[in-house]
Amino acid sequence: FFFSATPREAFCFFREMEAIQRQTLQLFMAKPCMSSEEAKAQFQTISRGRVSFENTKDAINERIRGMKLEIRRTTWDLNGETYWVLATSRGIENVDIGTTLDPKEISFVKHMIQKIIKKNGKLTVPAALAMSDYPKDARISSQASQQVLRYLQHEKILYVKEKKNKKSKDLVVIGPRGQLEIFDIINGDENATKCFVCSHHCVYGYTCSNAGCGKRLHLHCFQRLGRSGRDVKCSQGCREVFAPKELQNENAAEGDEGGSDEEEEPEDMDEEQ
Ligand SMILES: [Zn+2]
Ligand SMILES: [Zn+2]
Repeated sequence: FFFSATPREAFCFFREMEAIQRQTLQLFMAKPCMSSEEAKAQFQTISRGRVSFENTKDAINERIRGMKLEIRRTTWDLNGETYWVLATSRGIENVDIGTTLDPKEISFVKHMIQKIIKKNGKLTVPAALAMSDYPKDARISSQASQQVLRYLQHEKILYVKEKKNKKSKDLVVIGPRGQLEIFDIINGDENATKCFVCSHHCVYGYTCSNAGCGKRLHLHCFQRLGRSGRDVKCSQGCREVFAPKELQNENAAEGDEGGSDEEEEPEDMDEEQ
């Protein structure tokens, strides 16, 4: 809407809103993904404590729901922290606000996301861009694939996590906004597993170390269960104790590709905003 509306329509839409709501929505349009601390600080500057964020957010959502937009909170699997996101519920085809992905590029993106899920959320950039791994209808030029990746980074759908040393490779990971925007793709993927505690999809998390169990657990669910200092055990019928140190190493091995030497832990993701 914001990009297809005439200037007059946009002017009327914003004029009808209260100043604090309008400024908050404009904030989210400029920054569609913020850590909850940043969102709180920015909102405090706008509202000066006159109204609550919850009420303002609800009032904005009331107005933008018809455009299939919504301000939502999400917990990022990768670091267990919460973010506020201006999310669309129109599928990946319509994430392209302001840019147009053609059908081949959309197919490329869907296949790349499937590859990321298959790799437990960590795919190296060279693997993400290796066209020979993609079906014919999803192959695009190397220049186009790099543009699409940059665009998805800009939209905070995906992040590129830079390599730590010369031996390792840059990784493509699903960002907090991506978790919401591509939920349908993740949901429909046969390789996507659910967290046994909260039943939500677990792109990033721990895997039970009991061979043959394979249950997955979010970092934030692990932290919540372990808060009292008790052991965190797997579900009924397994009861294996989740031991974070080992499991982090296991996670690192899963992000590994082609024998490269990576030391990746879910907690140390850089939070670029
Ligand atoms: Zn969970
Ligand atoms: Zn288990």
